[in-house]
Amino acid sequence: MTAPLPPKPLPGLTDQTRPFWQAAREGRLLLQKCAACGTFNFHPKPWCIACGSRDLAWTEARPTGTVYSHTVSRSVAMNYPGWAAELPVIMCLIDLDDGARLYGQVTGCTPEEIRIGLRVQAYFEAISDEAGVPKFRPAAGANAPSASGASNA
Ligand SMILES: [Zn+2]
Repeated sequence: MTAPLPPKPLPGLTDQTRPFWQAAREGRLLLQKCAACGTFNFHPKPWCIACGSRDLAWTEARPTGTVYSHTVSRSVAMNYPGWAAELPVIMCLIDLDDGARLYGQVTGCTPEEIRIGLRVQAYFEAISDEAGVPKFRPAAGANAPSASGASNA
């Protein structure tokens, strides 16, 4: 007999990623910012993606951004029950207003309403005692395409 799956897979926290997950548990979007060139980096890594500097400081980023790309999952890999309960799941690449691009689930709109360029706002979901995950929802005042017709030209 095998152990039941957890609701969702949990991230493996390392010394390099722990600040991101712990800040998200506290409702903050904390990313590495390069002290040499000012670039926000994501995923956490030992060097800046823009200039290679190792002088990175954990810095709170604004929790707002724009959908760069999206996909809709209508089935669940490995049958995690927590994902199955949320189908269809909208996964996006979000361009934060501070410049980093991250993966994130968008809730609060339908697969028909998600679109490139949609303004989104992060919120945070606790996933364990020491980790949270940023998720996104349409920002207040963001126009959903199904409600606004051709206004997104
Ligand atoms: Zn840099």
